[in-house]
Amino acid sequence: MLWGVDHMSGVQGKSNVVCIIGDPIQHSLSPIMQNAAFAAGHLDYIYVPFAVSPENLNQAVSGLKALGACGFNVTIPHKTTIIPFLDHLDESAEIAGAVNTVKLCGNILIGYNTDGDGLVDSLLTDLNFSPGTEPVMVVGAGGAARGAIAALCRAGAKNIHISNRTIENASAIMRDMNIRYPGTHIDVTALNLVNEEQLSLISLLLNTTSLGMHGERIEHINLVHLPEHAKVYDMVYSCSATPLVKEALAVGLQSVNGLGMLVAQGERAFEIWTGEKPSEGVMRRTLNSLCL
Ligand code: NAP
Repeated sequence: MLWGVDHMSGVQGKSNVVCIIGDPIQHSLSPIMQNAAFAAGHLDYIYVPFAVSPENLNQAVSGLKALGACGFNVTIPHKTTIIPFLDHLDESAEIAGAVNTVKLCGNILIGYNTDGDGLVDSLLTDLNFSPGTEPVMVVGAGGAARGAIAALCRAGAKNIHISNRTIENASAIMRDMNIRYPGTHIDVTALNLVNEEQLSLISLLLNTTSLGMHGERIEHINLVHLPEHAKVYDMVYSCSATPLVKEALAVGLQSVNGLGMLVAQGERAFEIWTGEKPSEGVMRRTLNSLCL
């Protein structure tokens, strides 16, 4: 908390304002993480949270434009519904069909999605995993999966297997990615039909479902069938090990939850607004300190 208070006491008439809009927003860790990075970089920016209900989204976006904010983050439930109010979408947002970061350039609103690239950053930092020829199994086919799969394709993944409860959602992502990223082979399976042989061939298992947020296990995926070099990434983030991470560690696999992705998507958003990289490690240290 000290970070926020110290930083805010230095707000001036010329300070740049960035914010996050979502509903609910009280739980968001982004204000404390971003304000810590602005303070560490001695940048005259301030980041504030706004609870914006779906019916007020249009007015909120117009208001931010009128107020001269330099950008904002977008979170649940506005990541998709904000798109009609923007003037331009970066490729990351266009293919993901969702926006988590907006930059205001004069009167022009540009939407980005830093979640997927943030995941790729975190895979490298936290698991030393770079997408390439090694097969990846993505569990889930929601908004987070779409952004993640697009980023994995852009980063050079050659083989991606999507398994999801609703196979049609996985097939829709596969079709869109095949058009945009023909260099990546993608196939799909219903989650309840994933078999031992498929699991024995993968190098990375990536959970993009919401399973684990409330202690749930992912049924149908038995980690004992993964090869011993395989790594397990859980996008669900938590200060402690998620159920999937606990299971992976118990069978001797390297595994982390999505805190690193949360940090990395924030670092990329910071760079989009300020044109500068945040001081190395400051966002991560701030989150870690909240977890103590
Ligand atoms: P979403 O669009 O609602 O997608 C949810 C996914 O979970 C779908 O694939 C859905 O399958 C699956 N699912 C939900 N309940 C299930 C169940 N009981 N059994 C099997 N599958 C189930 O949500 P999202 O926006 O993609 O977010 C997913 C997760 O990613 C959330 O936990 C979110 O916190 C996390 N996330 C983390 C970060 C980070 O920075 N670490 C960033 C973004 C998102 P169906 O298609 O069958 O419905």
